[in-house]
Amino acid sequence: MKIKMILPSLMEAKSPYWGPIKYSLFPPLGLATLAAYCSTDDDIDLQDEHVEQLVTNDKPDLVIIQVYITNATRSYALADQYRSRGIYTCLGGLHVSSLPEEAMVHADSIFIGPGEDTFPQFLDDFRKKNPKKIYVNAKRNIENIPPIRRDLIKRNLYLVPNSIVVSRGCPHHCDFCYKDAFFEGGKSFYTQQVDAALMEIDRLPGRHLYFLDDHLLGNQKFAVSLFEGMKGMNRVFQGASTIDAILRGDLIEKAAEAGLRSVFVGFETLSTSNLEQSNKKQNLGKNYEEAINRLHSLGIMINGSFVFGLDDDYNDVFKRTVNWGIENALTTSTYHILTPYPGTRLYKQMKTDNRIIHNNWDLYDTRHVVYQTKSLSPEELKDGYDWAYKSFYSWSNICKASLQHDNLKQIIKHFAYAGGWKKFEPLWNFMIKTNGLNQMLPLLETILSKVRNKTKVDSRPSPFPAIA
Ligand code: SF4
Repeated sequence: MKIKMILPSLMEAKSPYWGPIKYSLFPPLGLATLAAYCSTDDDIDLQDEHVEQLVTNDKPDLVIIQVYITNATRSYALADQYRSRGIYTCLGGLHVSSLPEEAMVHADSIFIGPGEDTFPQFLDDFRKKNPKKIYVNAKRNIENIPPIRRDLIKRNLYLVPNSIVVSRGCPHHCDFCYKDAFFEGGKSFYTQQVDAALMEIDRLPGRHLYFLDDHLLGNQKFAVSLFEGMKGMNRVFQGASTIDAILRGDLIEKAAEAGLRSVFVGFETLSTSNLEQSNKKQNLGKNYEEAINRLHSLGIMINGSFVFGLDDDYNDVFKRTVNWGIENALTTSTYHILTPYPGTRLYKQMKTDNRIIHNNWDLYDTRHVVYQTKSLSPEELKDGYDWAYKSFYSWSNICKASLQHDNLKQIIKHFAYAGGWKKFEPLWNFMIKTNGLNQMLPLLETILSKVRNKTKVDSRPSPFPAIA
């Protein structure tokens, strides 16, 4: 059977303002994971529109499309096109799980929730010519899943082909997060077996890994065993964690010993009231600076994530947040305009309060204001968000943040990583256009090499005592 798997391009990935590198980082692991359930006789073509031109005049027996909110319009158009030619087409992913009625109109079958149990069921039904319209995930277990079909991934088109996921979901329940909608009706955080995860790591060439798990440190027992097992593997890796997990016990030290060199941290806001409003309990009462200093002392770079537009944000929030990030030597910052994704508690609350302005999903990209703001005007929010990016990534502020470190190697690493990430767009574009992105990996591995550091921010009192 000929199977076509497609990850359509996100709407924002087309914008020249943002450049394509951000969307050429990771291969479509979700689809490659599902492909493992297909028969070895199946002829599978996996296409990712972020890195290649889609072939759409082909005639597969089955099309599987992964739908996120800002590629929903594109996904539906592709699905309609294939279906109009009589080709059986399925839709799955976060957006389909949030809005199944909307997706159903464009699909022969849809998948709600994670696909590890529903996709094999569907394949069985499809081969028997009796597929159902809707498949709802019931079993939450990834302990015995088959190895990801990495042979379907065009490694040279990605900067980080060695991305990996060893868990599903997250133990927390932030109101603005998609997670609870996707995992509704069952467990919303579970892991692979440690041995299976280590075997998957072992199969990956080179040194660098990027864990795409929502919260790599979310299950202490699992994470300890994973990091123990990784110790002798000579890997460098990046991943995500919450503040409370960084501060708890010595897990972060174990992660550093195993090779953790950079971590994505959801600080989200410097306001206690905003944290409470968002049900971000894991950040409440936590000393952000203590977590930052601990990471820096272990030589771990930090990508801080922040949300603007919560109800306790006033027009000083942008400057305060940017300055705080610089003073605390965050290597990179990711800013978002608050976005009420359908299916989330935030969306439901805003709908009840009549605050949703429109449902144009193309603009639900965390770069546009799609809801009625409270303490800022929509223009202030959008302008402040744009300013924050520009300001944080100005050469002067990259220098200033780099110089917060005492250790020269750490200063250089910080400068190279932040500058390289945001300031060399033409070089990235050239590497992407020449299909040579993967050749930049040794450089990334060098920047992520081990260094221990003490930062100047150690003794500085928190400018935001409400958080500490
Ligand atoms: S910690 Fe992150 S992944 Fe977990 S629920 Fe909150 S926003 Fe979602």
